[in-house]
Amino acid sequence: MARALVYSCTSCGASHSKWSGRCDACGAWNTVVEDAPLSTGPKAQGLGAKRGRGMVLSDLAQAEAPAAHRPSGLSELDRVLGGGLVPASAVLVGGDPGIGKSTLLLQAAAAFGRAGLDAVYVTGEEARAQVRMRAGRLDLADAPLRLASETSLREILTTLEEVRPDVAVIDSIQTMWLDSIDSAPGSVTQVRAAAHELTTFAKRRGAAVILVGHVTKEGQIAGPRVVEHMVDTVLYFEGERGHPYRILRSVKNRFGPADEIGVFEMTGAGLAEVANPSALFLGERDAPAPGSAVFAGIEGTRPVLCEIQALVAPSPHAQARRSAVGWDGGRLAMILAVLEARCGIPFAGLDVYLNVAGGLRVREPAADLAVAAALLSAREDAALPPQSVVFGEISLSGALRPAGQTENRLKEAAKLGFSSAIVPARSARASETGLTLHPFPDLAALVGEMFGAG
Ligand SMILES: [Zn+2]
Repeated sequence: MARALVYSCTSCGASHSKWSGRCDACGAWNTVVEDAPLSTGPKAQGLGAKRGRGMVLSDLAQAEAPAAHRPSGLSELDRVLGGGLVPASAVLVGGDPGIGKSTLLLQAAAAFGRAGLDAVYVTGEEARAQVRMRAGRLDLADAPLRLASETSLREILTTLEEVRPDVAVIDSIQTMWLDSIDSAPGSVTQVRAAAHELTTFAKRRGAAVILVGHVTKEGQIAGPRVVEHMVDTVLYFEGERGHPYRILRSVKNRFGPADEIGVFEMTGAGLAEVANPSALFLGERDAPAPGSAVFAGIEGTRPVLCEIQALVAPSPHAQARRSAVGWDGGRLAMILAVLEARCGIPFAGLDVYLNVAGGLRVREPAADLAVAAALLSAREDAALPPQSVVFGEISLSGALRPAGQTENRLKEAAKLGFSSAIVPARSARASETGLTLHPFPDLAALVGEMFGAG
């Protein structure tokens, strides 16, 4: 029987009936590759006469014990997991190659081992000796953790079925392969099938399985996005190379809040937890300078202060440059347009660079006002009032909208020694923090106050 060829996108996992240079589903280029078709042959031809064992039906009212989180003792990791690992669950940890995922997972597995869980670490990336050397460097050599170097899922599952660990780390999902599938390791079909086998094992045996997934740039290897829907929890490990800070962010969590972050610092002895991220993100800051604004943000359940830096300079190019690191480029364009249209501050002919210090990626619209303040400060070469934080959302009309959790943001600012806050007029209620509030109804009012223009 001749098999029809199928094509899959290695970025989003969409299947296509024919090859194309660009994936219709996610818009990525050069990610559509030939792939083995999913199950063919007699098994795929319907259920036939053979009956299954049936399933268990129960009432809605039946009490179900809440998910029991088992903490590792690494509080930044536990926070992102929603309190710890949940038995019979699958966690995906994605991130760029070389960012430190293996270090994080080795430390996490050792921490779970020391917390009394039976932990197994399977690496398909390195030899056992390499992992042992890393464990020595991280001072984990004596941790109760068992190690294997293997890529065949048949061998891995056979052992896991025998050993029945509480936690199994699989590093990485792209190196695992099933011999029943006739396509290369790292292909969408292999990665999906391997993730399916491992999550099924987790559910069946009550184990927690942690899958490591590399975010890939080249199109031949499937990225972690293709298995996001199959797991209970999706974490991404982020950071800029050359920066020591790493952020573990939950983008999906069936057992806890999403958008929670844990902050780590990469040191010679591995990842160190950062208990007070605001102090860290503001640590490198000197005296208030033009182009700098401190944003009082909320990451997950806790407030985090960070510095937003802007540089505005005459452009030598025909088309002025717009560059944003740690902030959405589309949102930057919107704020520039509002400044121009509603406040009469043109940026034409000027290059604009925006940077969130410390390698943090800010996604909150509440950072709009801090971005605008940094841009204005840079353009006018005038520093913002010292010891002040900024937050608020900007609408297309130029009006300022209040951000949630105002009191929490102000409390964090007060704790770090700030004395005033620039906020939307509608969020300026009496605050118990003692900070002086400078409320503004819209962006034009802020521009008028700051620069005497309007
Ligand atoms: Zn795609």
